[in-house]
Amino acid sequence: MAHDGSAGEGRLHWASGEDNTRIEATPIDGRWIAGSVHEMLAETAARLPTAPAVSFQLKSGPKDPAETLDFATLLAEVNRTANLFRRLGIGPEDRVAYLLPNANETVMALLGGLTAGVVCPVNPMLEASQIAGILRETGAKVVVTMKPLPKVDIAQKVHAALAEAPGVTTVLEVDLARYLTPPIKWLMPFLRPKCPRPHKAQVLDFTEERAKESTTLGFQPEADPDKVAGMFHTGGTTGHPKLARHTQRGMIYNGRLTALAVIQSDDVLICPLPLFHVLAAYPVLMTVLASGAHLVLPTPAGYRGDGVMDNFWALIERWGVTFMVMVPTAASALMQRQVNHDVSTLKFAICGSAPMPVELFKRFEAATGVKILEGYGMTEATCLVSVNPPDGAQKIGSVGLPIPYTHTKILQTDGAGGILKVCDIDEVGEICVQGPGVFPGYSDPVLNAALFAEGDGVQGRWLRTGDLGRMDADGYLWITGRAKDLIIRGGHNIDPATIEEAMCKHPAVVFAGAIGQPDAHAGEVPAVYVELADGAEVTMEALEAFAREEITERAAVPKYIEILQELPKTAVGKVFKPDLRKSAIARTYERALAEAGIEADVSVYDDRKLGMVAEVRPRDPGTDDAAMDHVLGGFPRPWRRAG
Ligand code: AMP
Repeated sequence: MAHDGSAGEGRLHWASGEDNTRIEATPIDGRWIAGSVHEMLAETAARLPTAPAVSFQLKSGPKDPAETLDFATLLAEVNRTANLFRRLGIGPEDRVAYLLPNANETVMALLGGLTAGVVCPVNPMLEASQIAGILRETGAKVVVTMKPLPKVDIAQKVHAALAEAPGVTTVLEVDLARYLTPPIKWLMPFLRPKCPRPHKAQVLDFTEERAKESTTLGFQPEADPDKVAGMFHTGGTTGHPKLARHTQRGMIYNGRLTALAVIQSDDVLICPLPLFHVLAAYPVLMTVLASGAHLVLPTPAGYRGDGVMDNFWALIERWGVTFMVMVPTAASALMQRQVNHDVSTLKFAICGSAPMPVELFKRFEAATGVKILEGYGMTEATCLVSVNPPDGAQKIGSVGLPIPYTHTKILQTDGAGGILKVCDIDEVGEICVQGPGVFPGYSDPVLNAALFAEGDGVQGRWLRTGDLGRMDADGYLWITGRAKDLIIRGGHNIDPATIEEAMCKHPAVVFAGAIGQPDAHAGEVPAVYVELADGAEVTMEALEAFAREEITERAAVPKYIEILQELPKTAVGKVFKPDLRKSAIARTYERALAEAGIEADVSVYDDRKLGMVAEVRPRDPGTDDAAMDHVLGGFPRPWRRAG
């Protein structure tokens, strides 16, 4: 049976919604043998043993050393890693977490982890307490992380976190110093920072322990497509992580489908995005495994790595990259630089994870001559939901067609997931998804209530994405906002996207994040934070006038605008609204207290039950609680006295 484009069927022609119907006439289980991710890698390694699979360079220069693993070597290293995890007690249901920046070892930990047990990637940029919370939630027994290095605090945070995650029995350390060149490599033993270990877990060296293992897999990997092989956290930054469970079916589907429709064995993908996020892990890495394409990982920190933006076009030339994977923030930063190298190998730039401002989209295509394929995905769908089809029409501002075998509906639902209405063409509602990538739910069953919509007029269960959007007559999806982010001003719903899109039309503004700022009368009023283009200047008055002019809905005109040097963003470039909300609560509460003659400092923390809570520290310790409650009691967010 043919498994992928390169091996048998040839590339799928996928240009329109009609093609979806034609493609789906072949049942998915007939097109791909259900099986394990490991099998997908092993098949490609048998077919293309010496073809480059993954290349990693520690530094960003176009001549800096790089380490390339071919498919045979990648398979051997994944086998060793999986054998090692089994030796350390990881069975099919047990969890292996990794906290690593990108490197070849990160790929081994991911693939070895999902082969031996359940892999749980954790964002290494989180604080120690957040890491501890996620590790406890995963129940991980083994953690793979970095050996301490100067200027990087990942190891220190992980070891501190382990004091609060006693279920972890073994830590495997990856020494990225092995990628250094002399003389700094020789000096590293003297430069390595100290790292306290306030826990009982054994600490072993990842490379040394792998070397003791066979390059042949010592067990039969689980071939069940329903087997949960990964758990990815969302919302780790709030201290309330949700763990999304991923099945092998979803992982294989992301890889095989993209390999059939878009990526071939001679393609080269550059992915400067973190391997703890679904975009790099599934549509990118699984596609490489399915197709035999070559993945390039520039520096541990990807787009955030030293010199990566400055050297980006040189790296495209160095590796002959055909597909670049980006997010809007990266596109914006790249557009502040000249395209000063030969990028003629580039076929497409795949962009997703956050809304791409239309102006930026056009500027990028004009400057590079490269077409952008904007797509849409999420952790809960094992990533890919829709993308502009490479063979068909690219609609700027749309996130494209649902990928074959995935279906979307625009629904209006009640809070409990009951269906009130199936929306018409171009009517806005909640985007709901069905398909092989849709996850079976979070690990904590409490979080799964009302997660799926079902009822009259639709067949089966539909994942509620929390995103608002519409579907046009050609079947293309357009995202218009996020249901959860709605600003509710005196019972009137305002979609923050209306404000953000309007502000981004100003030539000086590159990114905008609108939120509901607490208000004693209306509950919430709109506030917007903006980030300016490099070197751009604009007055507050000009921005206010612009907002009044552009935003026709009166209630949506922001009551407050602030220019930030840089908007807070997640590792994949999404504007991180919780930080904006916290800043708005602190500012509003401090001002309201000051107006009542009470000088106080307000900070905001996350409470598991109450959500965001304002912590108030009056400058005069004799200040009466009742006086403060008189001022703050009318605001929607709770407060408590500090100390
Ligand atoms: P995550 O699970 O962290 O990948 O976040 C998924 C969310 O990112 C989606 O539910 C959307 O709100 C947002 N998102 C992803 N891709 C896009 C896109 N192309 N345009 C707008 N929002 C997007």
